[in-house]
Amino acid sequence: MTNDLDAIVIGAGFAGLYQLLCLRDRLGLSVQVLEAGEGVGGTWYWNRYPGARCDSESHGYCYSFSEELQQEWEWSERYPGQPEIMRYLNHVADKFDLKRSIRFDTRVVGARYDEASNRWHVRTDAGEEFNTKFLITAVGCLSTANVPKISGLDDFGGDWYHTGQWPHEGVDFTGKRVGIIGTGSTGIQAIPVIAQTAAHLTVFQRTANYSVPAQNAPLTPEAKRYFKDNMAELRRVMHSNANGQPFMVSERMALATPAEERMALYEAAWEKGGLEFRATFQDLLVDRAANDTASDFIRTKIQTIVKDPETAALLSDIDHPYAAKRPPIDTHYFETYNRDNVTLVNVKAAPIERITPTGIATRNGEYPADIIVFATGFDAMTGPMLRMDIRGRDGVSLADTWQAGPRNYLGLQIEGFPNLFTITGPGSPSVLCNMPVAIEQHAEWISGCIAHMREQGLERIEAMPDASDAWMEQVNAAANATLLPQATHSWYLGANVPGKPRIFMPYAGGMARYRQICAEIVANNYEGFALTG
Ligand code: NAP
Repeated sequence: MTNDLDAIVIGAGFAGLYQLLCLRDRLGLSVQVLEAGEGVGGTWYWNRYPGARCDSESHGYCYSFSEELQQEWEWSERYPGQPEIMRYLNHVADKFDLKRSIRFDTRVVGARYDEASNRWHVRTDAGEEFNTKFLITAVGCLSTANVPKISGLDDFGGDWYHTGQWPHEGVDFTGKRVGIIGTGSTGIQAIPVIAQTAAHLTVFQRTANYSVPAQNAPLTPEAKRYFKDNMAELRRVMHSNANGQPFMVSERMALATPAEERMALYEAAWEKGGLEFRATFQDLLVDRAANDTASDFIRTKIQTIVKDPETAALLSDIDHPYAAKRPPIDTHYFETYNRDNVTLVNVKAAPIERITPTGIATRNGEYPADIIVFATGFDAMTGPMLRMDIRGRDGVSLADTWQAGPRNYLGLQIEGFPNLFTITGPGSPSVLCNMPVAIEQHAEWISGCIAHMREQGLERIEAMPDASDAWMEQVNAAANATLLPQATHSWYLGANVPGKPRIFMPYAGGMARYRQICAEIVANNYEGFALTG
């Protein structure tokens, strides 16, 4: 293997694997993928916590670039579980012979651009150096674990785990008193599963959350056949809507629908389950009064399911519009609070003060625990980029460039960092879209751009300042046209990490619109980028 390459891709998850295939097999470039884990999988390699399962339905949560792959792979359930996604990604890597171009167990710690040679010098944790013309980050949006700094953790006498760094051998909760902090999508998946074996589970809830039943089930032979036979149409739907999912958002307006009919539609959507609930009406994410109808429906459901009135009140006391934070879906989440071995603790009223050697202490007292699970999320979107020491022209660091928040052009390129591309970074639809759909569009755009440069004899591409400013205005305007910024403590805004700048990070204008913008920019000869020979 040579350390002198045409392209280096950082990360071997969904994004890195496909980017490798595009550049190595379609363009014939010399490419090396550097991956911190010991296998492919990215997010799914690390997030092995109990109940880990994708919220997008399996027939949409996969690559669409190969008809053969789509026809041969068979998902077993409506939503793929973490082990099945790992099997899928390993199958893809083996089928396309990708692993020979991936260096595992290799964490990139820094990258420096050298203007004179127009090369990136990439350093690994083992002290090895690679150099490359193009550097592509495929580091994921949710790969930097956020373990809150709570005093006393070092002296905790039991074991503790963050869900995003889960041990490969699993954790045995049998007979243990478990404390779990966090009720985001992850906590909501893990809580019902941990409760089944733990002696006692104490859930520390700071912000109550909506959740809709996933209604997960094994796929019937008829469903499997249907998805295979209709793949082309499903792909067309996923590529033509805002969220990259294999369903369209209804054109009905919540407030224009008579109350009785509206309730019946919500009831049907609840029974069907999944993220499609938020597609029940067109105006749920843009009109607070419309959103209230969905929020009220879910609150009432919670109060009906949870038998203890005090617990039900705590779980349904939700302070943000439905789906303004990433909406979780679940399997028996609210029902779990009816178990005798589960207790809910309100840490908004009485915050966690410290971890003691034997448990978790709030202002109201100590809760004993043998195991603590941090389902406390991630330093999202910028965290995975900023934990590497990336330096562009004149040695300027990305950390300084993004001090006031991420700034880039199309979420693809950063001024001052030539030939560096970011897959599904801030400023792109990424986490607001079904990820494989967003990833495929980015990887194809990047490889199309590199192919164009090679054809034209161009050596360097860089986002221009005016184009970056205008794009950031578009990102802000798109967010402000929705209710998303109203969830003021969401990770979309960086608000979950103390000291992080509060900027709405993903592009909320929709995947279809974004795809069109990217295509128009190419048609206009890469408008907004400086391309030089
Ligand atoms: P999250 O949505 O950021 O939730 C973190 C939880 O931890 C929140 O309830 C938060 O409370 C709480 N928390 C954080 N620090 C705390 C502290 N110091 N004290 C008390 N509570 C604290 O993280 P996540 O659940 O891991 O989900 C992150 C994202 O990953 C999701 O939004 C989703 O995009 C993705 N995900 C996807 C799937 C899937 O597809 N199946 C599954 C899991 C996750 P506050 O709300 O008060 O900050």
